[in-house]
Amino acid sequence: MHETPDDAPRRVLVTGASRGIGRAIAIELGRAGFSIVVHYRREETAAEAVRASIVAAGGHATLLRFDVADRAETTKALDAEIDAQGGFWGLVCNAGVTADAPFPKLSDDAWDRVLRTNLDGFFHVVKPCVMPMVRARRGGRIVTLSSAAGIVGNRGQVNYAASKAGLIGATKSLAQELAKRGITVNSVAPGFIDTELLAGIPKEELEKRIPMQRLGTSEEVAAVVRFLFSEGAAYLTGQVISVNGGLF
Ligand code: NDP
Repeated sequence: MHETPDDAPRRVLVTGASRGIGRAIAIELGRAGFSIVVHYRREETAAEAVRASIVAAGGHATLLRFDVADRAETTKALDAEIDAQGGFWGLVCNAGVTADAPFPKLSDDAWDRVLRTNLDGFFHVVKPCVMPMVRARRGGRIVTLSSAAGIVGNRGQVNYAASKAGLIGATKSLAQELAKRGITVNSVAPGFIDTELLAGIPKEELEKRIPMQRLGTSEEVAAVVRFLFSEGAAYLTGQVISVNGGLF
């Protein structure tokens, strides 16, 4: 069985790292000394800027492109990456989309696209990566980005809340399967974070709902992910950690 030496670089895949929360996580984990694979779908220039800023700070990063909603494409890209570069020590399943509408107006496409990206995307990404992680025999970290909506629901987001609640169930179950391998699996559940995902929603309306009366920042989410990737978090698994300004 192949074992990776413990002083080999710890490679971490961050999906959807071209902007928003994923970008902040990639930069934060790069700063923490992990070798980052900056994943993107459409925005190569933005992803390249993330890679360059990690390298400029003294870190190591490369780019990888695929659509997480496409099983064949994701499997092919990840199998090739792992064959060429070796497996990952950590995964951050961050790529996600919304397609909000009141339930009677929720289209087939909005349901399918959100479930395929947010929930199927987890399966597509983690499946090819998990056995190489186990075989390396040096533990690891998997963090998913769920959402407050997946815990308490949110009007207009039946599809999104379903995908994120599913992701929480998947996270907790996989945590139980991988615990004896020293691989922790946790979910970070942001509330309202100031990114393009909230474009079109009036900020003032959201701020009224938040006890801290402000949106969160991507960096505030990334700091929690960094903690989950630390040695100090080695015994923390199967948990959902909310970062929501006291929303509930
Ligand atoms: P953004 O919309 O800013 O970024 C989403 C990222 O996901 C982009 O890089 C996007 O790239 C990528 N992505 C989307 N679909 C796919 C796909 N099919 N394949 C590959 N990449 C894809 O969102 P945030 O940074 O705000 O959100 C990050 C995560 O946090 C998401 O999972 C979101 O659900 C979750 N979250 C965010 C909250 C918020 O308030 N912002 C609240 C709760 C949870 P591209 O456009 O190129 O596809």
